[in-house]
Amino acid sequence: NQVILEAKDLGKYFQVGGGFRPKRLRALNEVSFALGARQVVALVGESGSGKSTIARLLVRLMDPSSGKIFFRGRDILQEEPRRASLDYRSQVQMIFQDPFGSLNPVHTIGNHLERPLLLHGKAKSAAELKDRVHELLATVDLNPAAELAARYPHQLSGGQRQRVAIARALAPGPSVILADEPISMLDVSIRVGVLNLMERLKEQRGISYLYITHDIASARYFADRTMVMYAGHIVEGAPSEELMHKPAHPYTQLLLSAVPDPNGSMKSALKAKSGAPKLIDPPPGCPFADRCPSVMAVCRKAMPGATRIEQGRWVRCHLFGEGVASGMEVPQERS
Ligand code: SF4
Ligand code: MG
Repeated sequence: NQVILEAKDLGKYFQVGGGFRPKRLRALNEVSFALGARQVVALVGESGSGKSTIARLLVRLMDPSSGKIFFRGRDILQEEPRRASLDYRSQVQMIFQDPFGSLNPVHTIGNHLERPLLLHGKAKSAAELKDRVHELLATVDLNPAAELAARYPHQLSGGQRQRVAIARALAPGPSVILADEPISMLDVSIRVGVLNLMERLKEQRGISYLYITHDIASARYFADRTMVMYAGHIVEGAPSEELMHKPAHPYTQLLLSAVPDPNGSMKSALKAKSGAPKLIDPPPGCPFADRCPSVMAVCRKAMPGATRIEQGRWVRCHLFGEGVASGMEVPQERS
C-alpha cells in the first residue's frame, strides 16, 4: 500500500506561565505514523491526549515544534515553510466535531460549498458551479440537492449539517480527510450512517482518513488500524481487530475494560480511576505509571521505547522486550 501522509517525530510544546521560568507543556511527544491510500487509521484517547493536536499539525493550522510531515513523499514543512500551499490544502482536508460551529449561520448551504469550489478552481461558470454544488450534496445523500442548497444551517439537523461539512471537505478533491470526533455530537441513531457515508467515499473517491475519537468501539467499526494515545504519546498501534482482541498496552486494556455506555463514551469510567496525566514538566518515565496496575521500578525512570511485538503491531511499554521499532508501521500489513 502506498503511503499518502506520514508524520515523523512530530512534537508540539507550548510555553505556559511567564516570569523567569516559563514551563513547557508537552502536548505531543515525537509521534510517527503513516497513512496509506484508501486506509482508515484511528487515533483513540481521552481528551487532552494530543489527538486533535496531531490533526491540527497535519492540516497546518499550526506549526510543530519538531518533526516532519511528508505528503506523497514530499517534505511539506521544508517545501512550504510559511504556510501550506493551495495544493496541499486541497489535498488534506479536515472536518470537526461541532457541525453547528463549523457553518456560518448567515450563509446558505450552497454558499458554503461554492467557496471551496471557487477557491480551488473547480468551476468555470455559474452554471457549472451550481452543478458541482448539487453533485456534492447528492454525494453526501442530501436530497433534493437544489432544495437543500437554498437552506440555512439552522434549518438542518445535526446529522445533515455534518454531511454538509463532509461535502465541503470533498469540494477541493482531497485524498486525505482528518476527521476529529466527527460523530460524537450527533444522535446515537445517526452515527453509523455518517461513518458508512465516509466509508463509501473512501471507496468511491479514494479517500484516506485519520479518524480521531474517544470511542474505541467506533474505531473498530471504521478503522483498519488503531493507534492509542496517552499523554501526548502514541502508546500502541495495531490492526483494529487485533488491538481489540489482544490489547498489549495496560492503558489499552483499561480502555477496553471501561464498559462503554450506549453513547460509546468511556470518559466517565476512566475519570473515576485516577487523575489526568501531567503534561507540564512531566516526571521522567512512563506517563501512565500512576495509573498502571503493572507498574515496575523501571517505569518511573525511563520512557519505554517502541517495541515491535508482531508484524504490524507495536507497543511502548516496559513489559515488552527490547527490539525498538522505528516509529509507526507503514500500512502494508492491513488485513
Ligand atoms: Fe505500565 Fe510500566 Fe508499561 Fe508504563 S511502562 S504501561 S507503567 S508497565
Ligand atoms: Mg480533541
